Amino acid sequence: MRIGMKNGMEEEALYRAGIDYLLDWYDLNQRILPWRQNPKPYYVWISEIMLQQTRVEAVRRYFERFIAKLPEVGALAAVSEDLLFKLWEGLGYYTRARNLKKAAEIMVRDYGGEVPGDYKILLSLPGIGSYTAGAVASIGFGLPEPAVDGNVLRVMKRMAGSFDDISKASVKKRLEEQIRDMIPKDRPGDYNQALMELGATVCIPNGKPLCEACPVMHLCRTFYSGAWQQIPVKAAGKKERQIRERTVFVLKREDRYGIRKREEKGLLAGLWELPGTENRLGIEEAGNYLKKLGYAVKDMTPLGEAKHIFSHMEWHMTGYLADLGEDEKTESAGNPEFVKDSEAYGEGIPGVCFFHGEEIIRKYSLPSAFDAYKKQFLKEKDDQDSEF
Ligand code: SF4
Repeated sequence: MRIGMKNGMEEEALYRAGIDYLLDWYDLNQRILPWRQNPKPYYVWISEIMLQQTRVEAVRRYFERFIAKLPEVGALAAVSEDLLFKLWEGLGYYTRARNLKKAAEIMVRDYGGEVPGDYKILLSLPGIGSYTAGAVASIGFGLPEPAVDGNVLRVMKRMAGSFDDISKASVKKRLEEQIRDMIPKDRPGDYNQALMELGATVCIPNGKPLCEACPVMHLCRTFYSGAWQQIPVKAAGKKERQIRERTVFVLKREDRYGIRKREEKGLLAGLWELPGTENRLGIEEAGNYLKKLGYAVKDMTPLGEAKHIFSHMEWHMTGYLADLGEDEKTESAGNPEFVKDSEAYGEGIPGVCFFHGEEIIRKYSLPSAFDAYKKQFLKEKDDQDSEF
């Protein structure tokens, strides 16, 4: 038998009944996080964007590094793209970093270099949706706005025993309205964070919820029905990911390695990458391909297969270390204007620039898709470090 709420009024009454239990539980159980210790709007905003696809424990490290370099809106607005991406390296979804900078530029231009304390204005900024706007407004400014993400939807729908389809925008919107009506005016940020925290640590997404540790167990319809595997309902199936085959080259010219910028549109737009082809080449084919482009290939070493999963696509890669021999242009090392293949070495792969491995690691952000092949530079760095 389904034990659920009959209508939205009953649902809302149940949510209201849970408020104090949730706040008391949050007071005792919240995790200590740097952006919670000091919930400046700027910190809340940065941390919420970082948390969108990454676990709290991992974000803590990135957050501290980011804030140390870019402590306020003005610094973020003025940062170079290379440093921004370097600080973002490992978090993926680089569009989020780009949008942070774009939003910071607007804040400098229109809002005196501060995060605006207005839900609707926040919502109008690049990269800020209703969840982030609600989180910044409620946690950073104490405004009574909802912050509904997947965690909150799961907790609330389980509490109500509701079989609403949470992939529908209308279901999320309705819950936002319900929370806006009842959110405690004296502690809106804590209420939102209590729901998020409960969803992350107790009413968990994968596996059995830890109901015995839940402060609203006595109110929860799903606890009584046992239907935690059916709730929340998420009808919209995920699209199958496309599989793309690729060959990745680690081009080594004496002690420098080739990287280049991707096009400004599409996947990983404008980021640095290891050059390659959009098909899978055997070692002989790969060598011939590079020779045809004018490279004097001395040696080819297979670096093995690797896979990287994006939200909508998988790269299935095979990699080669291509030793291009001596470097006659050492004096220009590190200056992309002089070492672009097309200018200095004939045709080559357009846009490739050669840098020392240590310099690539320190200054340039290569997306984690290339992690398996980046090891070549790390190896060089380790070798250098061990010499001292
Ligand atoms: Fe989730 Fe269990 Fe708490 Fe209900 S009682 S909200 S199912 S953890």
